[in-house]
Amino acid sequence: MNSTAHVVIVGAGYAGVTAANRIRAGAHPDVTVTVVNPVPHFVERIRLHQYAAGSGTATVPLTDVLHPDVRLLVDAVDRIGDRSLTLVGGTVLDFDHLVYAVGSGPGGGVPGMEHAHTAASLDDAERLRGRLDATSPGAVVTVIGGGLTGVESAAEIAEQRPDLRVRLLSSGRVATGLSESGRKSVVRTLGRLGVEVDEGATVAAIERGAVVLANGTTAPTDVTVWAGPFAVPDLARRSGLPVDDLGRLRTDDTLAALGHPNVVGVGDSVAPPERVARHLRMSCQAAIPLGATGADTVLAQIAGAEPEPLSIGMVLQCISLGRHAGVVQVVRTDDSPRWLVLRGRIGAFVKERVCRSTVRWIGPRTGTYRWLSGPAVAPEGAEVSA
Ligand SMILES: Cc1cc2nc3c(=O)[nH]c(=O)nc-3n(C[C@H](O)[C@H](O)[C@H](O)COP(=O)(O)OP(=O)(O)OC[C@H]3O[C@@H](n4cnc5c(N)ncnc54)[C@H](O)[C@@H]3O)c2cc1C
Repeated sequence: MNSTAHVVIVGAGYAGVTAANRIRAGAHPDVTVTVVNPVPHFVERIRLHQYAAGSGTATVPLTDVLHPDVRLLVDAVDRIGDRSLTLVGGTVLDFDHLVYAVGSGPGGGVPGMEHAHTAASLDDAERLRGRLDATSPGAVVTVIGGGLTGVESAAEIAEQRPDLRVRLLSSGRVATGLSESGRKSVVRTLGRLGVEVDEGATVAAIERGAVVLANGTTAPTDVTVWAGPFAVPDLARRSGLPVDDLGRLRTDDTLAALGHPNVVGVGDSVAPPERVARHLRMSCQAAIPLGATGADTVLAQIAGAEPEPLSIGMVLQCISLGRHAGVVQVVRTDDSPRWLVLRGRIGAFVKERVCRSTVRWIGPRTGTYRWLSGPAVAPEGAEVSA
């Protein structure tokens, strides 16, 4: 047992804040917990489409969500070494245990991304908000990507700006992770909001003022919003830590980095073994229990005990469709849809309650946070089909 250990958390998103507070709550008072984050506020990324469309805010001071005994350093980590890290500001910080929680941000995808906006980070959402504010009635807004972020962004913009023409382009069907009835609800509500949904439209390139489709046609646009898959920072890769193809930190089933047990990964930027984590999509729904599991691993390591493998079950897929409608799809622990779907105002109400609750779940009382166990796990070494 090392009661004077120094734990550093890199990144104060859903996973990092949860981990910091849970370690603070569970560790000996002499253990020091430091969080490093580039800005002094917690970004509610799940509200960034609202912020971009002008229907809400998306930041909370970190001092409101962090335990008062957690030290906050406003800076970014430039490189992680063996038991010490270097901040962009040049300071070197020693650590005994490190929690890697740098999350994700906008991903690329097609040529011409410089002509597109996104709602995947606060800075990007701010730029998109400014662009929409400066856009005149009748202008075309093209949202690319039929996943949940694209759907939420298109709906929010259409509701806030009924004077604009909003198009949603998707290479496949929109909202495919939902049950068929959930998906139909999403498409119906998008239609009611005036969003033109084009399924089967694969975007090959983005130009200034136009989107080029794979079939060779060009669609004029005034504002283009890219809502493709997220990408993760390359901090782990450039620090020589083990990463997967996407650059996520590779860990064992307790979230300890392979070959670096005192570095624990949580949230969007971690890649635990498929066997225990193949159902966990990049989401705050997974990031919070991942943060808690990572914290429990660090607490076990400090106590000299054996950490428990992760077991996280998914519960819901919640989609806001503007401020007055939503679709809440109940899922099995492996994230596959059940038959139960809440729609319309009830869906919007549940989604808003979930958004508000996340800030409470990650807060200083997160030591008591509990979550659903994951689906049955294949034995180690067994093949997992994709
Ligand atoms: C518009 C939108 C809507 C969404 N809706 C939902 C939803 O309804 N439900 C859901 O479950 N998920 C949703 N998501 C996804 C969800 O927001 C993310 O999966 C979640 O934020 C991941 O949490 P995280 O803690 O891993 O990372 P993040 O929340 O991304 O936090 C990472 C933190 O690390 C910091 N950081 C990065 N690099 C460094 C560095 N070098 N040094 C120090 N700090 C660093 C960042 O600044 C940030 O504060 C949505 C996302 C978007 C963009």
